[in-house]
Amino acid sequence: MSDCIFCKIIEGEIPSEKVYEDEEIVAFEDIDPRAPVHVLIVPREHIPTLNDTEPAQDGLLGRMVLVAMRIARENDVADSGYRLLINCNKDGGQEVFHLHLHVIGGRYLGPMVQRA
Ligand code: 5GP
Ligand code: ZN
Repeated sequence: MSDCIFCKIIEGEIPSEKVYEDEEIVAFEDIDPRAPVHVLIVPREHIPTLNDTEPAQDGLLGRMVLVAMRIARENDVADSGYRLLINCNKDGGQEVFHLHLHVIGGRYLGPMVQRA
């Protein structure tokens, strides 16, 4: 999609620190890391939100999680712990509308969500 930041990163039109690539998935460092490890895992296909995935894309979603586990291992946070996060739409805090899975770790992350 022509005006999507993550599509441009995937295509190499915007620079990024890529840490993993295969035929359907790309992973790169978050530009504004919230923890020592903060990597974004994205499908090459432009899928705006988690809601836009089909049941037939269960394999893709599963492989994104497998890539996240690999990134956690490679960054030595598999045992200390990490968090996988997909923000969806406004209340979920989604800012970039190209599906992405955050891998966050390397420090104690605290409670899952701040209490209201
Ligand atoms: P969201 O809130 O949509 O789940 O997260 C979007 C993430 O994308 C944020 O953590 C933000 O720091 C990251 N981000 C936004 N623009 C860029 C960019 O141009 N390059 C990289 N590497 N990350 C970005
Ligand atoms: Zn996109």
